[in-house]
Amino acid sequence: MSSAIDRNFDKQVAFLQRLVQFRSLRGEEAPVQQWLASQFAERGYKVDEFSLADVKLHEHPKAAPMDNIDPAGSRQVVATYDNNGHGRSLILQGHIDVVPEGPVDLWSDPPYAAVVRDGWMFGRGAQDMKSGVSAMIFALDAIRAAGYAPDARIHLQTVTEEESTGNGALSTLVRGYRADACLIPEPTGHTLTRAQVGAVWFRLRVRGTPVHVAYAQTGTSAILSATHLIRAFQEYTKTLNAKAVEDSWFKDVKDPIKFNVGIIKGGDWASSTAAWCELDCRLGLLPNSSPQEAMRGIEQCLAEAQKNDTFLSENPAELVWSGFQADAAVCEPGSAAEGVLGVAHQTAFGATLEDRLSTAVNDTRYYCVDYGIPALCYGPYGIGPHAFNERVELESIRKTTLSIALFVANWCGLRKL
Ligand code: ZN
Repeated sequence: MSSAIDRNFDKQVAFLQRLVQFRSLRGEEAPVQQWLASQFAERGYKVDEFSLADVKLHEHPKAAPMDNIDPAGSRQVVATYDNNGHGRSLILQGHIDVVPEGPVDLWSDPPYAAVVRDGWMFGRGAQDMKSGVSAMIFALDAIRAAGYAPDARIHLQTVTEEESTGNGALSTLVRGYRADACLIPEPTGHTLTRAQVGAVWFRLRVRGTPVHVAYAQTGTSAILSATHLIRAFQEYTKTLNAKAVEDSWFKDVKDPIKFNVGIIKGGDWASSTAAWCELDCRLGLLPNSSPQEAMRGIEQCLAEAQKNDTFLSENPAELVWSGFQADAAVCEPGSAAEGVLGVAHQTAFGATLEDRLSTAVNDTRYYCVDYGIPALCYGPYGIGPHAFNERVELESIRKTTLSIALFVANWCGLRKL
């Protein structure tokens, strides 16, 4: 298997470069999904390409609100391999949406050039998680190149919305795809994600009373009111983290609950007090809590902060649920799938599979929390997800591809071609 991966590796690196060159920001994923669909079809898989508008997503209690995104333009791809085998079936899933690259002049290389240097590939999405997507596809290629075929049904899935709602992953489940296990090769640095936080996105629309700054005392500034609310949420997050020491999974992680204001917009003129301000925020939650509880907490924090403010108490900010309503999740130890992955990892890396706790969300939550499908989050090593000079180590991709191929071989079983 190892030599089959080595023989294909130049091709895999070129494939990953092509993947990174698609600027697949949210709402702009259709071209990369079309390209992947054609790649899957060339490999002889049965390809189901559908959009979020093609499934009854919003009848599902876990569907998250989508903001200014056309569901019909959000394409999902499921490639199925099925030879009526006798092994355990498997979902291999990866997201192809990437987050914005930020100011390009702060990158060493253009963010979508997929430059390879000193054993690393640089680019937005190179690590998170197009490297993992290449690994799951080329793991199956290696099995075939070695003269074998998996002895079970496999769904290779590339989804959108992982970075904003999770609705891409959820839509594949609503579409009816199930298996005995799921592996999502997010860039975990070859560790297994044992527990992960959940998250809620919300937007605050704050108003002000615009006046000429010469008479600032007669008006109010929405930007200053927004600052007051940001401080309140920072203090609230401290109280949540003080309680986090009681969480059975995250008790030893310092401040596992992160609050972030990721986007701020507001005001129209330097000499007018700001008439409006909008904040896009994200708050994490732990496995002992639910998104609904987190949302009630956000409402309470906002109400408290506004109560003591002369302007905001009369002119409350509008609160909009703008994306993630994600459960936290735990990968329960001791599943058969984890055992098989542990052996595959040991063979590929010559080391024991270690686990980690993640203060970010990933798509495994739907499989394990909502559908009872054991779901493993395990993938390559890289640096700088969502940061400048995001990069992935090529040698890590090679070994992770081997590890996934061995996992497929032992989970699904093999037959000789
Ligand atoms: Zn990711």
